[in-house]
Amino acid sequence: MTQCLNPDCLRPNPPQTKFCQSCGEKLVLKERYRPLKIIGQGGFGRTFQAVDEDKPSKPFCVIKQFFPQVQGTKSLEKAAELFA
Ligand SMILES: [Zn+2]
Repeated sequence: MTQCLNPDCLRPNPPQTKFCQSCGEKLVLKERYRPLKIIGQGGFGRTFQAVDEDKPSKPFCVIKQFFPQVQGTKSLEKAAELFA
């Protein structure tokens, strides 16, 4: 399975798919990391399990997506700081 990273979509796609069949977004991040599924979701965003397709051993890795659910510049700055 390949998980779409678009926050408004998040649709699972068949393995090896290059573009999301629902929203048309590119599925492989930086032509390298293929998201497989969502493994975490919280106030700062989402965490995806992914595969590094650039390495021969295709190791698992993690994609963290910053997607804070806060309003206002100050809270956003704080969220960005904590996320980093
Ligand atoms: Zn999509």
